Amino acid sequence: MRGALSRAALAACLLVPLLAVAQEAPRRVEVSDDFSAILDKGSILVEVRPLDGESVTDFARRISRDEAAAARLLALPAAPSRSRRIVLPYGDLSDETRLAAVRALFPSDVRATIGWLHVAVENEPLASIASWFTGDARLSARLAELNGLREGEPATRGTLVKVPVEYLLPPFRDAEPIPDEEPPRLEYGSDAKGRYAVYRLKRKEALYSAVVVRFTGRIHAEDVIQLALDIALRSGIDDVHAIPVGFPVKIPLELLSGEYLPPDDPKVAAQAKERAEAALFATPAKALHLAGVRVVIDAGHGGTDTGTLHHGVWESTYVYDVASRLRKVLLETTRAEVVMMTREPVQGWEVIDRDRLPDRKGRVLLTDPPYRMTNVVAGVNLRWYLANAILKRPGAGGRPIPPEKTVFLSLHADSLHPSVRGAMAYVPGERFLRERYGRATPFYRTFREVRDDPVVSFTKKERVLAEGASTSLAEKLIGAFRRRDLPVHQFRPVRTHVIRKGREWVPAVLRYNKIPNRVLFELSNLSNEEDRRLTLTRAYRQECAEALADGLVAFFGGAPEERAIGTAAASGPAAVRTAAAAAPAELSGPWPDTIGPWPEGAPQGRTALAPTPTPAPTKAPRKPVRRRRR
Ligand SMILES: [Zn+2]
Repeated sequence: MRGALSRAALAACLLVPLLAVAQEAPRRVEVSDDFSAILDKGSILVEVRPLDGESVTDFARRISRDEAAAARLLALPAAPSRSRRIVLPYGDLSDETRLAAVRALFPSDVRATIGWLHVAVENEPLASIASWFTGDARLSARLAELNGLREGEPATRGTLVKVPVEYLLPPFRDAEPIPDEEPPRLEYGSDAKGRYAVYRLKRKEALYSAVVVRFTGRIHAEDVIQLALDIALRSGIDDVHAIPVGFPVKIPLELLSGEYLPPDDPKVAAQAKERAEAALFATPAKALHLAGVRVVIDAGHGGTDTGTLHHGVWESTYVYDVASRLRKVLLETTRAEVVMMTREPVQGWEVIDRDRLPDRKGRVLLTDPPYRMTNVVAGVNLRWYLANAILKRPGAGGRPIPPEKTVFLSLHADSLHPSVRGAMAYVPGERFLRERYGRATPFYRTFREVRDDPVVSFTKKERVLAEGASTSLAEKLIGAFRRRDLPVHQFRPVRTHVIRKGREWVPAVLRYNKIPNRVLFELSNLSNEEDRRLTLTRAYRQECAEALADGLVAFFGGAPEERAIGTAAASGPAAVRTAAAAAPAELSGPWPDTIGPWPEGAPQGRTALAPTPTPAPTKAPRKPVRRRRR
């Protein structure tokens, strides 16, 4: 039996190279049931079909580069359907579809600061590479010159071809670049306890941050401490605080985050496919100055739910301040419609010009009737019910606002291992979302939002779209934080799920929320001393609010300076016209007629808060915050 197998295996080994020389078989990567990418003799093709519940017209528009390509698709003799896939050429595809095909076929490709780094997976003509990434096959001569390759000869398998930023087509140009730091080098091995990766500690690196947080993706204190002990034990380390430089630390493979797995691990291919599928939906509608966009701002926690609490600092107080500042920035500098999910009855959404803020427990969730948030779980569940109700509401002037122009932003501050710092964003990972969910108990039924729509359900398309669009939004928000030098989580700031105590999930406020562009944003880690100190300054909170506004503008296709309606930055004639044409719109809470009466006792607080003059300026000096590299 053994011998027979070896002979068969040997025969296969001999056959494959021979075939490869004779003719390379098309390379085919099945991303999902609905989408495959094919590389066939230097041409990229996709095999696609409409998603469940998607009309053929919608499908044609989504997948095609322009109206003409969509019309060609619709004129095909055999129309695509759920039971009929069709094959389309790269040139006819939309930006998102091209990016998705490239991500699937070339998993080693990355967007670096200098441009797109393409790694050939077979013999690829330079003209093909030039046309995939730049849209112009004639640039092959330039690529040959830049990369020290011979024109007219294909890039062989494994060749790195750099395509500079200035030549890139939009989807490749706009992809989020990886940081320029040198990627850490891991070696892989195995022993009686299984496979592991080896990392050698450098000077000043600690096991917690340099190994556990970086390579396993764990950030919660109890997980980090436990895994550090497990890894120390596995590596034969007696004292985690005195590990010699260069000591080989063994990390069991099953603990590694996807990006650090060896390339032959099946999970790597699965994750590349997930990313490719999500990339199909990464770019939203364009909206200059956020015109026609509705931003739903959810300040996390509130009422008796303080959120995380460190050294007397309440999460709920400071995220509400950033939410109020963001509301103000958006109303003053963009045309977005702003909807606030919660309201503090004493101060309303006024920005208090102080570093330390008064803590209050009177904040209500603006459901019908308003909810005082006395129960944490109910506070979260009613949030997504409210978000789903807002999604259906017409905008100012009674015009409907399409879901793709609606954003849900839930603001929080985290409580992680003290070595972790900076902003992070969570998006709804497709594989963690359920199809149907509802909580129709008598308590929940006292709220109009629940009675109107007790059960939420998602199609596969909605789930995939939510991950793709929300990831793109989160990357823009994080990118805006980076541009302002605000601290950002060092290793993986955008995540599709929470990992904690061996479980993985999407926060409920995102999980059952139907707003397609939705992000839970952790502004800082309150367990980290520097983050906490920053959070207690109004300068930092104002920078956060402005960065979030920049990120929203960028997500809808603008440059940050495009959010300056009515200010010096928008002084061109066109900008003046736009500013004059549209006064900022705001819905003063979801159901204005039913807000209030405010809970008893609230007005007393007013005296305590009454405008206290403070000498400090509202606007922070630029860049008060330095990102610390560790
Ligand atoms: Zn929170």
